[in-house]
Amino acid sequence: SSFAHLGFDEQLMKSIRRSEYTQPTPVQAAGVPAALSGRDLIGIARTGSGKTAAFLWPLLVHIMDQRELAPGDGPIGLILAPTRELAQQIYMEAKKFGKVYNIRCVCCYGGGSKWEQTKALEGGAEIVVGTPGRVIDLVKCKATDLSRVTYLVLDEADRMFDMGFEPQVRSICNHVRPDRQALLFSATFPRRVERLARDALHDPVRVQH
Ligand code: AMP
Repeated sequence: SSFAHLGFDEQLMKSIRRSEYTQPTPVQAAGVPAALSGRDLIGIARTGSGKTAAFLWPLLVHIMDQRELAPGDGPIGLILAPTRELAQQIYMEAKKFGKVYNIRCVCCYGGGSKWEQTKALEGGAEIVVGTPGRVIDLVKCKATDLSRVTYLVLDEADRMFDMGFEPQVRSICNHVRPDRQALLFSATFPRRVERLARDALHDPVRVQH
Protein backbone atom coordinates (compact mmCIF):
# COMPACT_ATOMS: atom_id res chain seq x y z
CA SER A 1 0.00 0.00 0.00
CA SER A 2 1.19 3.51 -0.72
CA PHE A 3 0.02 6.98 0.19
CA ALA A 4 -1.28 7.49 -3.35
CA HIS A 5 -4.02 4.93 -2.61
CA LEU A 6 -5.40 7.12 0.15
CA GLY A 7 -6.49 9.83 -2.26
CA PHE A 8 -5.25 12.87 -0.36
CA ASP A 9 -4.86 16.15 -2.21
CA GLU A 10 -1.49 17.51 -3.26
CA GLN A 11 -1.17 19.86 -0.26
CA LEU A 12 -1.62 17.14 2.32
CA MET A 13 0.62 14.79 0.31
CA LYS A 14 3.32 17.42 0.35
CA SER A 15 3.17 17.68 4.11
CA ILE A 16 3.23 13.87 4.47
CA ARG A 17 6.26 13.70 2.19
CA ARG A 18 7.94 16.34 4.29
CA SER A 19 7.60 13.95 7.25
CA GLU A 20 9.60 11.41 5.28
CA TYR A 21 7.01 8.68 5.83
CA THR A 22 7.51 6.23 2.97
CA GLN A 23 4.31 4.21 3.28
CA PRO A 24 1.20 4.08 5.46
CA THR A 25 1.36 1.88 8.54
CA PRO A 26 -1.19 -0.99 8.63
CA VAL A 27 -3.57 0.97 10.88
CA GLN A 28 -3.37 3.91 8.46
CA ALA A 29 -3.84 1.74 5.35
CA ALA A 30 -6.98 0.17 6.83
CA GLY A 31 -8.30 3.02 8.97
CA VAL A 32 -7.91 6.03 6.68
CA PRO A 33 -10.21 4.81 3.86
CA ALA A 34 -12.88 3.84 6.42
CA ALA A 35 -12.64 7.21 8.16
CA LEU A 36 -12.65 9.11 4.85
CA SER A 37 -15.83 7.28 3.86
CA GLY A 38 -17.53 8.74 6.93
CA ARG A 39 -17.76 5.48 8.87
CA ASP A 40 -17.28 5.21 12.62
CA LEU A 41 -14.15 3.32 13.56
CA ILE A 42 -12.76 1.16 16.34
CA GLY A 43 -8.98 0.98 16.18
CA ILE A 44 -7.29 -1.55 18.38
CA ALA A 45 -3.84 -0.04 18.21
CA ARG A 46 -1.11 1.12 20.52
CA THR A 47 1.37 3.94 20.49
CA GLY A 48 3.83 3.44 17.64
CA SER A 49 1.18 2.09 15.26
CA GLY A 50 0.72 5.44 13.53
CA LYS A 51 -2.81 5.76 14.95
CA THR A 52 -2.53 9.53 15.47
CA ALA A 53 -2.11 10.26 11.77
CA ALA A 54 -4.75 7.62 10.99
CA PHE A 55 -7.38 9.79 12.70
CA LEU A 56 -5.82 13.19 11.96
CA TRP A 57 -5.50 12.99 8.17
CA PRO A 58 -9.20 12.16 7.64
CA LEU A 59 -10.07 14.88 10.16
CA LEU A 60 -8.18 17.46 8.08
CA VAL A 61 -10.09 16.38 4.96
CA HIS A 62 -13.34 16.52 6.97
CA ILE A 63 -12.58 20.06 8.16
CA MET A 64 -11.91 21.28 4.64
CA ASP A 65 -15.39 19.99 3.66
CA GLN A 66 -17.13 21.30 6.76
CA ARG A 67 -15.64 24.78 6.46
CA GLU A 68 -17.91 25.28 3.44
CA LEU A 69 -20.86 23.16 4.53
CA ALA A 70 -21.14 24.48 8.07
CA PRO A 71 -19.52 27.89 8.34
CA GLY A 72 -19.46 29.24 11.86
CA ASP A 73 -17.51 29.11 15.09
CA GLY A 74 -16.54 26.35 17.44
CA PRO A 75 -14.48 23.25 16.89
CA ILE A 76 -15.30 20.75 14.11
CA GLY A 77 -12.95 18.08 15.42
CA LEU A 78 -12.70 17.12 19.08
CA ILE A 79 -10.00 14.71 20.23
CA LEU A 80 -9.99 13.35 23.78
CA ALA A 81 -6.83 11.86 25.25
CA PRO A 82 -5.99 10.57 28.75
CA THR A 83 -2.98 12.73 29.60
CA ARG A 84 -1.52 16.15 29.02
CA GLU A 85 1.52 14.57 27.36
CA LEU A 86 -0.53 12.62 24.85
CA ALA A 87 -2.83 15.60 24.20
CA GLN A 88 0.22 17.76 23.46
CA GLN A 89 1.72 15.15 21.12
CA ILE A 90 -1.53 14.92 19.17
CA TYR A 91 -1.78 18.71 19.11
CA MET A 92 1.76 19.02 17.69
CA GLU A 93 0.97 16.49 14.99
CA ALA A 94 -2.34 18.20 14.16
CA LYS A 95 -0.53 21.52 13.82
CA LYS A 96 2.20 19.99 11.68
CA PHE A 97 -0.17 18.38 9.17
CA GLY A 98 -2.89 21.05 9.45
CA LYS A 99 -0.50 23.86 8.57
CA VAL A 100 -0.99 23.38 4.83
CA TYR A 101 -4.68 24.25 5.28
CA ASN A 102 -4.16 26.85 8.02
CA ILE A 103 -6.18 24.73 10.40
CA ARG A 104 -6.40 26.22 13.85
CA CYS A 105 -5.79 23.88 16.79
CA VAL A 106 -6.06 24.40 20.54
CA CYS A 107 -4.85 22.06 23.28
CA CYS A 108 -6.69 21.97 26.64
CA TYR A 109 -5.49 19.92 29.58
CA GLY A 110 -5.87 19.89 33.33
CA GLY A 111 -3.06 21.67 35.15
CA GLY A 112 -2.63 24.16 32.31
CA SER A 113 -3.87 27.74 32.60
CA LYS A 114 -7.63 27.83 32.09
CA TRP A 115 -7.40 31.50 31.24
CA GLU A 116 -4.84 30.90 28.49
CA GLN A 117 -6.85 27.99 27.10
CA THR A 118 -10.00 30.13 27.13
CA LYS A 119 -8.17 32.90 25.27
CA ALA A 120 -6.87 30.41 22.73
CA LEU A 121 -10.40 29.06 22.20
CA GLU A 122 -11.73 32.60 21.74
CA GLY A 123 -9.19 33.04 18.96
CA GLY A 124 -10.98 30.28 17.08
CA ALA A 125 -10.25 26.56 16.96
CA GLU A 126 -11.22 24.03 14.32
CA ILE A 127 -9.56 21.22 16.25
CA VAL A 128 -9.62 20.94 20.03
CA VAL A 129 -7.38 18.33 21.61
CA GLY A 130 -7.89 17.86 25.31
CA THR A 131 -8.17 15.79 28.42
CA PRO A 132 -11.78 14.96 29.35
CA GLY A 133 -11.99 16.79 32.69
CA ARG A 134 -10.69 20.06 31.31
CA VAL A 135 -12.84 19.88 28.19
CA ILE A 136 -15.97 19.44 30.35
CA ASP A 137 -14.84 22.34 32.51
CA LEU A 138 -14.42 24.62 29.49
CA VAL A 139 -17.80 23.61 28.10
CA LYS A 140 -19.46 24.32 31.45
CA CYS A 141 -17.99 27.80 31.66
CA LYS A 142 -18.92 28.36 27.99
CA ALA A 143 -15.33 28.84 26.85
CA THR A 144 -16.19 26.48 24.03
CA ASP A 145 -19.31 25.07 22.46
CA LEU A 146 -19.46 21.57 21.00
CA SER A 147 -22.50 22.10 18.78
CA ARG A 148 -20.43 22.21 15.59
CA VAL A 149 -18.38 19.10 16.38
CA THR A 150 -18.93 16.47 13.69
CA TYR A 151 -15.76 14.39 14.16
CA LEU A 152 -15.04 12.96 17.60
CA VAL A 153 -11.95 10.95 18.52
CA LEU A 154 -11.58 9.00 21.75
CA ASP A 155 -7.88 8.16 21.89
CA GLU A 156 -6.49 5.56 24.29
CA ALA A 157 -9.98 4.87 25.60
CA ASP A 158 -8.72 2.14 27.93
CA ARG A 159 -6.29 4.55 29.60
CA MET A 160 -8.95 7.26 29.88
CA PHE A 161 -11.09 4.75 31.76
CA ASP A 162 -8.15 3.61 33.93
CA MET A 163 -7.70 7.24 34.93
CA GLY A 164 -11.33 7.52 35.99
CA PHE A 165 -12.52 9.63 33.07
CA GLU A 166 -15.43 7.40 32.05
CA PRO A 167 -18.16 9.79 33.30
CA GLN A 168 -16.52 12.77 31.59
CA VAL A 169 -15.98 10.88 28.34
CA ARG A 170 -19.60 9.75 28.30
CA SER A 171 -20.84 13.22 29.16
CA ILE A 172 -18.84 14.73 26.28
CA CYS A 173 -20.16 12.08 23.88
CA ASN A 174 -23.66 13.13 24.91
CA HIS A 175 -22.85 16.81 24.33
CA VAL A 176 -21.80 16.18 20.74
CA ARG A 177 -24.48 15.92 18.07
CA PRO A 178 -25.59 12.32 17.57
CA ASP A 179 -24.94 12.31 13.82
CA ARG A 180 -21.21 12.99 14.26
CA GLN A 181 -18.54 10.63 13.01
CA ALA A 182 -16.79 8.95 15.96
CA LEU A 183 -13.49 7.08 16.16
CA LEU A 184 -12.35 5.13 19.19
CA PHE A 185 -8.78 3.96 19.66
CA SER A 186 -7.66 1.65 22.42
CA ALA A 187 -4.67 -0.64 23.00
CA THR A 188 -6.87 -3.15 24.82
CA PHE A 189 -10.58 -3.79 24.54
CA PRO A 190 -11.99 -4.59 28.00
CA ARG A 191 -15.72 -4.88 28.51
CA ARG A 192 -16.30 -1.27 29.56
CA VAL A 193 -14.53 0.05 26.46
CA GLU A 194 -16.67 -2.31 24.41
CA ARG A 195 -19.75 -0.87 26.14
CA LEU A 196 -18.66 2.67 25.33
CA ALA A 197 -18.09 1.67 21.71
CA ARG A 198 -21.59 0.20 21.60
CA ASP A 199 -23.10 3.35 23.10
CA ALA A 200 -21.11 5.99 21.21
CA LEU A 201 -20.42 4.50 17.78
CA HIS A 202 -22.75 3.59 14.92
CA ASP A 203 -21.98 0.43 12.96
CA PRO A 204 -18.20 0.87 13.33
CA VAL A 205 -15.51 -0.57 11.10
CA ARG A 206 -12.99 -2.44 13.21
CA VAL A 207 -9.28 -2.21 12.53
CA GLN A 208 -6.83 -4.24 14.58
CA HIS A 209 -3.01 -4.11 14.59
P1 AMP B 1 1.58 7.04 16.91
O1 AMP B 1 1.31 5.56 16.97
O2 AMP B 1 0.50 7.81 16.29
O3 AMP B 1 1.94 7.57 18.28
O4 AMP B 1 2.87 7.27 15.97
C1 AMP B 1 4.12 6.75 16.30
C2 AMP B 1 5.25 7.42 15.49
O5 AMP B 1 5.24 6.97 14.15
C3 AMP B 1 5.16 8.91 15.43
O6 AMP B 1 6.43 9.44 15.75
C4 AMP B 1 4.79 9.23 14.00
O7 AMP B 1 5.36 10.45 13.59
C5 AMP B 1 5.38 8.06 13.24
N1 AMP B 1 4.62 7.71 12.04
C6 AMP B 1 3.29 7.82 11.84
N2 AMP B 1 2.94 7.38 10.61
C7 AMP B 1 4.06 6.96 10.02
C8 AMP B 1 4.36 6.39 8.73
N3 AMP B 1 3.41 6.16 7.82
N4 AMP B 1 5.66 6.10 8.45
C9 AMP B 1 6.62 6.33 9.37
N5 AMP B 1 6.42 6.86 10.59
C10 AMP B 1 5.16 7.17 10.92
